[in-house]
Amino acid sequence: MLHTLSDDSLLSKVKALAGEERRIHRQVLETLLEVDRRKLHLARGFSSLFAFCTDELGYSPASAQRRIASMRLLQEMSPPEREQVQTKIESGTLTLNHLAQLQSVARAERWDLHAKREMLQSVEGKSVRQCEKILASQMTSPTMPRESIRPVSATQSQVTLVLDDQTLNLLERFKELTAHRNPQATHAGAIRLALQIAVERVDPAREVKARAAPAESANAERSANPESDTRVPHSVPTQEAAASHRRSTPNFNRRPSRPLRRSIWRRDQVCQYVDPITGRPCTSQFKLELDHHLPFSKGGSTTAENLRLLCRAHNAHFGGRLKPGSQ
Ligand SMILES: [Zn+2]
Repeated sequence: MLHTLSDDSLLSKVKALAGEERRIHRQVLETLLEVDRRKLHLARGFSSLFAFCTDELGYSPASAQRRIASMRLLQEMSPPEREQVQTKIESGTLTLNHLAQLQSVARAERWDLHAKREMLQSVEGKSVRQCEKILASQMTSPTMPRESIRPVSATQSQVTLVLDDQTLNLLERFKELTAHRNPQATHAGAIRLALQIAVERVDPAREVKARAAPAESANAERSANPESDTRVPHSVPTQEAAASHRRSTPNFNRRPSRPLRRSIWRRDQVCQYVDPITGRPCTSQFKLELDHHLPFSKGGSTTAENLRLLCRAHNAHFGGRLKPGSQ
């Protein structure tokens, strides 16, 4: 069909389609704004709008990021101003690239809406390259390379990140201290060892090993666990007494005992939110928090049956009331 078109018709057609694409960009941004306003991505079991855009809508991470950053910029504007910018997106003088680049620099430079407005005027109608140059010329801090992870083999990835002096000194010091366990003294070896030690310490699902000397092991556990809850009174002298205290008052505290917390972490491992409509589980492992299924304030007990792990987004959005996924 296309190969029978004249050159002029083919060019007209591709121009018309590009215009249609810009109109669709506008509509996608408008629709995302409303999805975000209703927090529908959370209700449907996604831990973030980014996860919704990549997993549900099929955008690449970069495409999702451009759309979300553009949408966030529009979100800050008044409806009439938003309308003006959207008209420019439709005409092509402003693109998702302009908006997303501007939003990213603005975040790093902490620009307010007034500054963003001025820069939007400066980049309007400019090419991607020109836009980058204009924005870079306004930056007070040097442009840092973006953090990235790129697979280089089936089991290895190249990681790009920028470390400050303090972090680099810590890394070097760690390498010295652990030279016997990392004989090649590689950064990768040191990072793996450091992470193994760190994860072992902060993983709430970990087993407590030493039980021989109760008082000592309790102290060791407290000092080894940065998440130890300082709000829980530690006046109970032994673990035995603490256990009996917990047995006698299982629902008294909103805050679960440490063994109960560990058992929930081991059982759940991922966000337990499930969209009641589609049945889609969230399964995010990002910033997991313990949640009372039936809220504590409404008489919900602090028991394994009533506790679950939720990611921060779902806990924040559905906290303090009966959740759609709880029935
Ligand atoms: Zn979640």
